[in-house]
Amino acid sequence: MSGSRPHDCNADLHCHSNVSDGVLAPGALVERAIEQGVELFSLTDHDELAGQETAARAAQAQGLRYVGGVEVSVTWGGETVHVVGLQIDWHNAELDAGLARTRAGRDQRALEMAESLERVGIPDAYAGALRHVGNPALISRTHFARHLVETGVCSDINEVFRKYLVEGKPGYVEHRWAKLPEAIGWIRAAGGTAILAHPGRYRFNETELWALIDEFREAGGEAIEVVCGSHSRDQYGRFARIARDSGLKASRGSDFHAPGERHIELGRLPPLPASVVPVWADWVD
Ligand code: AMP
Ligand code: MN
Ligand code: MN
Ligand code: MN
Repeated sequence: MSGSRPHDCNADLHCHSNVSDGVLAPGALVERAIEQGVELFSLTDHDELAGQETAARAAQAQGLRYVGGVEVSVTWGGETVHVVGLQIDWHNAELDAGLARTRAGRDQRALEMAESLERVGIPDAYAGALRHVGNPALISRTHFARHLVETGVCSDINEVFRKYLVEGKPGYVEHRWAKLPEAIGWIRAAGGTAILAHPGRYRFNETELWALIDEFREAGGEAIEVVCGSHSRDQYGRFARIARDSGLKASRGSDFHAPGERHIELGRLPPLPASVVPVWADWVD
């Protein structure tokens, strides 16, 4: 770790491998993180732990500090909310079983998404999405998005999500994920810290957001992402204030999925504002 303050550590505590909806294998991600100057790293695949051992071993072999991670899909207030778990024991049976239940409905949802796309003239999207899937247990909207870009239906991933795959658009299928206290409970059972991921992405008003944060804290949540790939500079400031006002620690993570996709790179984020306590402050020597 460079510098004396934890804020100076280049921590990237949110990204995805091909075990969920990223494109790089866990080992390749670790190499890329090192190339990009990351000093503290976590692979946080959606609802899945299968990349943890490989990532941890690759990091250890190359002297990169690694913490176990996961990003759990939750349904709260009728919206999908993501909770990142860090410093988890990826061998924990309760976490593993909870995630297995969370993953279970993905295949059926994917078939329904494909039917819905078929109705607007986009055939064979299930087979097309599967060609992008690295882990058959984890088919996601991102795989459909890559297929629609590859076949020229849209020019980039953002356009796919704008026109398809989100509520009210063809290709979107409502899905019930884990409950908030459940997800936090699994993370804590595995010795981990629960972090509310990319709060700026949710379509909540101020009252709803604070209700979410209150419930998150009551259930044992400890931190909130402040500097992350989904937030604008204004949102760094806003969520730093919210972290301070709510007594939550702050996290930092790129949410990197694929080289060149959405212009997000591992470790390439501003440091956390001085006003917040980094979630990793007492993890590093
Ligand atoms: P799923 O878990 O199958 O619902 O897929 C969610 C994933 O889709 C997220 O983790 C992101 O990687 C991606 N995603 C969601 N919304 C957007 C968006 N507006 N633009 C780009 N990617 C998105
Ligand atoms: Mn994703
Ligand atoms: Mn997310
Ligand atoms: Mn993510």
